[in-house]
Amino acid sequence: MRALKLLTVLLCTIWALNVNAQQKKYVMVIHGGAGTILKKNMTPDKEAAYVAALTKALQAGYAEIKAGKSSLDAVEATIHVLENDPHFNAGKGAVFTHDGRNELDAAIMDGKTLMAGAVAGVTTVKNPISAARAVMEKSEHVMMVGSGADLFAKEAGLEIVDPKYFWTKERWDGLQEAIKADSTKAVLDHGSKKSGLLGIKNHDYKFGTVGCVALDQAGNLAAGTSTGGMTNKKYGRVGDSPIIGAGTYCNNETAGISCTGWGEFYIRNVVAKTISDLMEYKGISVAEASKIVLDKVGKMGGDGGLIALDKKGNVAMPFNTEGMYRGTITADGKIEVNIYK
Ligand code: ASP
Repeated sequence: MRALKLLTVLLCTIWALNVNAQQKKYVMVIHGGAGTILKKNMTPDKEAAYVAALTKALQAGYAEIKAGKSSLDAVEATIHVLENDPHFNAGKGAVFTHDGRNELDAAIMDGKTLMAGAVAGVTTVKNPISAARAVMEKSEHVMMVGSGADLFAKEAGLEIVDPKYFWTKERWDGLQEAIKADSTKAVLDHGSKKSGLLGIKNHDYKFGTVGCVALDQAGNLAAGTSTGGMTNKKYGRVGDSPIIGAGTYCNNETAGISCTGWGEFYIRNVVAKTISDLMEYKGISVAEASKIVLDKVGKMGGDGGLIALDKKGNVAMPFNTEGMYRGTITADGKIEVNIYK
């Protein structure tokens, strides 16, 4: 009798420990951009729309993981939701170049194989993250740009749209405001003093780039990022998002990382790979490594944030702006979405 009681206690303890571990183990983390995102500037409707979009994106990726699909599938499915939603500066909702075009960048990386794919300056691919994946899986290259990348995506059978598909009034107005404030200055899709957005009024100040890192049932990580870049950017400007090691990186031995922020600073600090290197060569945790590198970016005058997820399911989501659209989902399906500090 006594032995039975002991056994029951033991089994209950094991069960409780398991539930706890499941709750704490993150399987996905996403961002929808960082910047001057203040509650006082947000209407309840708008806030609800962002929360709903981030939740829907997490659910889409989680469904893939639950079904036993790869972390790459989860990242692609999640980013599709965000690219198709005009609230974010990626896919539909991308910001405009100075010339009034939408030039989109994206990258994806497989933490198991260290294979990676990226596109920059595409104008006709509905979902640039899929074009990045096609470059990784269907070519021997890592990065393709401009009309060649558009053509490659078409030949790979991806959905092609008229460039007009990406036109939204909010982004168009944002470009007109940016040009009025300083026609020569490319501005980030957010309202930081540092990045020179002062003077632009009715603009939704944020970095609306989107990113995702996922951990699948086989224990493999994948990371992806998709963006329209900077409002009023010059022809051909490419930011950090599609640059492997800068805005996007993934390695099963360390972590998957996706950045958002003032791209030039992220490129010069090789942010994502540096975080991975600190973990690999110094044995630093994902949280500590992310903080060290983002602090450096901040000190140099770059603002933004990043998401990172390691193989054990630990996440880091630091940012040096007022807010960052972000969300996580744990192995047991619990979703958490946050916007402000
Ligand atoms: N990092 C992106 C870029 O510089 C912008 C962003 O994160 O919103 O292109």
